[in-house]
Amino acid sequence: VIEMGTPDRAVVTTCAYCGVGCNFRAEMKGDQLVRMVPSKDGKANRGHSCVKGRFAYGYATHPDRILNPMIRDSIHDPWREVTWEEAFEFTARKFRGIQEKHGVRAIGGITSSRCTNEETFLVQKLIRQVFGNNNVDTCARVCHSPTGYGLKTTLGTSAGTQDFDSVEHADVVLIIGANPTDGHPVFASRLKKRLRQGAQLIVADPRRIDLVRGPHVRAAHHLPLRPGTNVALLTAMAHVIVTEGLTDDDFIRERCEMDAYQDWAGFVAEDRHSPEATEALTGVPAEEVRKAARLYATGGNAAIYYGLGVTEHSQGSTTVMAIANLAMATGNIGRPGVGVNPLRGQNNVQGSCDMGSFPHELPGYRHVHDAEVRGMYEKLWNVTISDEPGLRIPNMLDAAVHGTFKGIYIQGEDILQSDPDTKHVASGLAAMECVVVHDLFLNETANYAHVFLPGSTFLEKDGTFTNAERRINRVRRVMAPLNGFADWEVTQHLANAMGAGWSYAHPSEIMAEIAATTPTFAGVSYGLLDREGSVQWPCNDAAPTGTPVMHEGGFVRGKGLFVVTDYVPTDERTGPRYPLLLTTGRILSQYNVGAQTRRTQNSIWHDEDRLEIHPHDAETRGIAEGDWVRLASRSGETTLRATLSDRVSPGVVYTTFHHPETQANVVTSDFSDWATNCPEYKVTAVQVALSNGP
Ligand code: SF4
Repeated sequence: VIEMGTPDRAVVTTCAYCGVGCNFRAEMKGDQLVRMVPSKDGKANRGHSCVKGRFAYGYATHPDRILNPMIRDSIHDPWREVTWEEAFEFTARKFRGIQEKHGVRAIGGITSSRCTNEETFLVQKLIRQVFGNNNVDTCARVCHSPTGYGLKTTLGTSAGTQDFDSVEHADVVLIIGANPTDGHPVFASRLKKRLRQGAQLIVADPRRIDLVRGPHVRAAHHLPLRPGTNVALLTAMAHVIVTEGLTDDDFIRERCEMDAYQDWAGFVAEDRHSPEATEALTGVPAEEVRKAARLYATGGNAAIYYGLGVTEHSQGSTTVMAIANLAMATGNIGRPGVGVNPLRGQNNVQGSCDMGSFPHELPGYRHVHDAEVRGMYEKLWNVTISDEPGLRIPNMLDAAVHGTFKGIYIQGEDILQSDPDTKHVASGLAAMECVVVHDLFLNETANYAHVFLPGSTFLEKDGTFTNAERRINRVRRVMAPLNGFADWEVTQHLANAMGAGWSYAHPSEIMAEIAATTPTFAGVSYGLLDREGSVQWPCNDAAPTGTPVMHEGGFVRGKGLFVVTDYVPTDERTGPRYPLLLTTGRILSQYNVGAQTRRTQNSIWHDEDRLEIHPHDAETRGIAEGDWVRLASRSGETTLRATLSDRVSPGVVYTTFHHPETQANVVTSDFSDWATNCPEYKVTAVQVALSNGP
């Protein structure tokens, strides 16, 4: 795709990168995409965009796209191009053969947070109806699964509480574990506008991100905590709020479970949780914690926004609950300008979770234990659904290594590059008899695949994405699929090759099934989306045009639940051999493992991952700007070049993970969140030494 000529028509669609969900006019000349213009009517972006959505779409027609299906009997054989029919028959034969030999639970699949709601719904349906088990998981496992657990437990629903417009009513904003300027740029612009109007900002982050001291903005407080101590810091803030009498007692009495509140308040009031007692642990001066807590509790409407720096920890779910505790204790929930807001990473990570991609939940976050919901799907799909949760991604890989899990269908995710402990992922994949990769490119995971099914881009399909504010946005087909099929059609053909008999003619029919079976989507239809532009779920009879702010009159679970969140140190410890802590993140122009952005002109802005290291740590190791360094942990090692920066504190190093040459996840540990198995990407004990290069 290149910029060319004067457009003769436009199609309004949604960006396929981050969870902000910007709307664009894809301007066309004939069947050529001329340019992407941010839509003024886009309710998430209001005419704004970033360099990814605006410019980084050239991957759609990049020559690396694989357009023909391929199969091979062994991963050591060369690929053989086949017809779609042969690929579906080969896959169906392999999967059925495995199930006959090893049982129905010996196969499973992974849905994609890059694909549409409709495509995700079909993949989980394939697994539950056709495979006959609950072995479905999603890439949200490795990013925001703790959000689902933590917010459902405390508030009653697995989603952020506000719309993005809400930030325009905030007086105080606490950003923790997120770097919106790089990760969610259009939201960052809206936040900065509010800051310029006088709202105050607190940043809790090990790095001095741009929002701390950037152009035109300056945080009132930066709390540069030691990686892995989120819970201790949030509990210290809660200590100040409770012991200094800054709680909103009317809100707590009316809206929350009092017994749980009293347990929590007694716990956080203990002296051991004071900012002074935890200063050595978190590394944040006690007085700064006190000031930040007072500002959050008394500064007016206070909103919390957080990212993967909260969730990707061994206490990720605990941290999400600690955040919800703070919001409830100060009455900062249930109206514009406040709330608890996860900044979702991928375009449809909210949607993939909504659509039943977890092994313990059917669409709409209903547990497989719920006999009534199971019964509804069993009748509709003519199948028996197990009340036993299936395997999570790490459990699938473990079971593969132990010989009980033999086949997997992976739609739109490169687990070899994006999941932690790369060696373990490779061992699991190598042990399987049939790995099916359904993707745009021959990614790293495809090295272990027996079937490659070509995927389609967002430009080639109809459907919907759900952004971080629960907004269901339409994705509209701009060009015909280069490979012949949109992804939902590929899944349908595979299901039918295995005997399903599906006959969806258009994604709107899949949405009709979603709406008919999922109460929070009951009012959603393509007609409504065309009329309204987009709607936020819940969208049903009670809220026919959607719900911008949740928990207004009461919490979805009834009363809000305070949860005691005790700090437990990660098992990933520094020591003489691995004295530094590595944390990871993203940069504005690139996206995740870079499969798309690296195949666009955006690469001119960032062509390698670098290791950010404090000048003091660099000097003691004899490292100068631009030197090659060896980065090693207990899991593995890699080589990259160094950038000296005081954005990180001494003792902390930082890198991005956009380039496969770096393979940053070779280094990350296999520790994970206690509740959800979300990997602890953000804390790895490492050593850094001068190197001669790769
Ligand atoms: Fe796309 Fe996110 Fe950038 Fe918007 S902010 S254009 S959704 S990458």
